Amino acid sequence: MVERFQQYIDGAFEDARESFDSVDPSTGEVWARMPAASEHDVDRAVQAAHRALTDPAWANLTASARGKLLYTLADLVAQNAPRLAELETRDTGKIIRETKSQIGYVAEYYRYYAGVADKIQGAWLPVDKPDMEVTLRREPVGVVAGIVPWNSQLFLSAVKIGPALAAGCTIVLKASEDGPAPLLEFARLVNEAGFPGGVVNIVTGFGNDCGRTLTSHPLVSRIAFTGGPETARHVVRNSAANLAAMSLELGGKSPVLVFEDADLESACNAVIAGIFAASGQSCVAGSRLVVQRGIHDALIERLVAKAQAIRIGNPQDAATEMGPLATRRQLEHIENVLRASVAAGGRIVTGGRRADGFARGNYFLPTIVDCPDSRVPSVSEELFGPVLSVVTFDTEADAIALANDTRYGLASGVFTRDLTRAHRLTRALRAGIVWVNTYRAVSPIVPFGGYGLSGLGREGGLEAVLEYTRTKSVWIRTSDEPIADPFVMR
Ligand code: NDP
Repeated sequence: MVERFQQYIDGAFEDARESFDSVDPSTGEVWARMPAASEHDVDRAVQAAHRALTDPAWANLTASARGKLLYTLADLVAQNAPRLAELETRDTGKIIRETKSQIGYVAEYYRYYAGVADKIQGAWLPVDKPDMEVTLRREPVGVVAGIVPWNSQLFLSAVKIGPALAAGCTIVLKASEDGPAPLLEFARLVNEAGFPGGVVNIVTGFGNDCGRTLTSHPLVSRIAFTGGPETARHVVRNSAANLAAMSLELGGKSPVLVFEDADLESACNAVIAGIFAASGQSCVAGSRLVVQRGIHDALIERLVAKAQAIRIGNPQDAATEMGPLATRRQLEHIENVLRASVAAGGRIVTGGRRADGFARGNYFLPTIVDCPDSRVPSVSEELFGPVLSVVTFDTEADAIALANDTRYGLASGVFTRDLTRAHRLTRALRAGIVWVNTYRAVSPIVPFGGYGLSGLGREGGLEAVLEYTRTKSVWIRTSDEPIADPFVMR
């Protein structure tokens, strides 16, 4: 039985003229039909968001009332987490253990933004003119275009929808053509929560038409994009049409540094979590292990034992620890890069091939590649899969140089018991996140984003909400005296 999903435009659920198949990555079978939004559909969604922006049903709500709607949405997400998790697992192959816990936590993101809504404040400015009262208002920036990739769509959209609505904006969100089911289902919760029509619109379709139309639409004032750097370049070019403000959350090639004095078992478990959770399909995947020479062999031995013990299987099974990759093209890309990495001197110490017994799914073994230097392609290229590349250092300075030898800069991890060294490294590492003796921790309260090719701007935390506002300076003259010389600037 093939399920059918609808798009959500201007408060109504509807079919698109065209639709496309969604494939279950664990079986390779078509399980659902998704609406393919046309350029016309995207235009209607943006027009609806633009109307909603000034419609009294939304524009006249107090900030506290917007917060209450967001609290209702948070409760609905929490109540429906099992169904949303099941859909995300079905559509992307991400294991149910992770989707359940992650979507439970998505509700906390909406709660955070609900609480922020009535704490966005303007200011009174002590201007240097005695007869003037100057205040700074914070107004919603306008219509937001949100674009998310296929991994963690509910999570990545919460950090866009949440602050946008808290600030009083409206949004058109484009789900990825791969795995859009959970977001299209989430639209039902938006509707049930009682947001006025047009405030949130959710479409899905192909990047080149749907994504391009959305990011270049003249009525869009802000773009919040998550995806790869190549697509981000298209988005930046598209935005030349509307000169929209934007945040870009892109990929990474995040290093995990392990020093000889580290707790080896703890570091080993964190490295495993950093690269094999979500089958490595995570922007913060700790895909480069930077290890001190004295513990190289001992750490690799432990990692290999743990990697080989990972339970690979049906992502819907709660016992499964690693599921399939989301798409066949992703699997083939990893195989190609690994071939080039071996040719460049990389030595595969475990994995390096498709998993046995899963001929029809996109299953790839947890893989570790020991590399002589950073020129090996698996060390420098983001693979977005379960491949850990290892490089070795002798001194702290070498470790920093290796870690920073990348154009990305999203996350990094440091494992050491030496507190002063830990502090030095938090300064020296060029990345938007440094985790010390832990990895892959997130919170709505903490800004998230990268340096270099990992992106622009931040999501999460209070600062990010302000990016969905713009200021208006209001000057009020308090003197009753006539304005004197009209040719002098006051
Ligand atoms: P892509 O960059 O291919 O796609 C991201 C989104 O952009 C999709 O919705 C895609 O649509 C859309 N898109 C494609 N072409 C255009 C276009 N011309 N204009 C506008 N939108 C377009 O990324 P993937 O889906 O392959 O996801 C993986 C990437 O995302 C990795 O690089 C990963 O690191 C990054 N990522 C970053 C995160 C972060 O927070 N920093 C978090 C998670 C992932 P469609 O799917 O229909 O092609």
